This record gives sequence, C-alpha cells and structure tokens, in this order.
Amino acid sequence: MNTTNPIIFVADTMLGKLARYLRIMGYDTFYQTSYPDQRLSELVKEGRILLTRNHETANQYLNSIFVDCDLVKDQLKAVDKSLKLTRDRRDWFTRCIVCNSPLSKAELEVARQNVPDFVFSKYHERIVFCPTCKRFYWPGSHRERMVERLTDWGY
Ligand SMILES: [Zn+2]
Repeated sequence: MNTTNPIIFVADTMLGKLARYLRIMGYDTFYQTSYPDQRLSELVKEGRILLTRNHETANQYLNSIFVDCDLVKDQLKAVDKSLKLTRDRRDWFTRCIVCNSPLSKAELEVARQNVPDFVFSKYHERIVFCPTCKRFYWPGSHRERMVERLTDWGY
C-alpha cells in the first residue's frame, strides 16, 4: 500500500478532474477549488510540480506544466508528455481520490461495519479506507470503469 511516487503535484483551480485521475494513478496531487495568495508558491516550494491552465501562472514557475486542453484525457497526455507517467498499476488506487491521503487496509471488523453487506462478503480482504476523511474504497464496477478508461488512454 505504501508505494510512494517521488513526483508530486499541485493542480490549479480549474484542474480538479485531472487531480482526481492523478490520485487514482497514485500521485500525491494537492488540489483546492481556490488558492489564497502565496499558497501556490508555497506548494511549489515543497517540491510540487504546478499544473495550470493559466499561461501567466505557468510562466511564473519554472517547475510547472501548462495544460492547455479541456478534456481530462488530453490533460493527462500533456502531463505524460512532460514527464512520463507511471504505468505501474500497483500504484493505482492507493490514494484517496477526494482528499489525496494514502489509503490503509481496513481491519476486517471495521470494514464490516462501514460497507454494505454484499461488498463485505465479496471484497472483505480488499477493502481500504482513508484515515483522513474516513471514506472506504473497494474494487467494483466504478473502479473497473476507471481502469478501462485509463487502459483505453494508453496507461
Ligand atoms: Zn480521504
């Protein structure tokens, strides 16, 4: 569960969907719907690569990628072009899509109490949770659709 990728990102306000996909692929990707003054530059100083749709913002930071497209598929491609994204599926689904925290394996009893019965009986050994926002995750049709999509896109 703790495969940490050395590349870390901060996604600018208009790139929420891209941030979710990067998290799905296991990348530590900071994202907020708005950033107070100086926040972006602090995050870049932490070593995060800034992803932005704003040309001027991209020009302000050496460590940035200008993402000039609307569809998340093309946005991922733009990032992949600048720095080859991982194809290692062991990294996928290791991070909370909502809050970016690394996921942990859920204790069986805790999992039993927090997911629907059919999910528990089918996936009990593979249920993980987010220690920060307390969401539970498990394999299933939603995840399969995302895997299919990423596979179609060449990842
Ligand atoms: Zn979370």
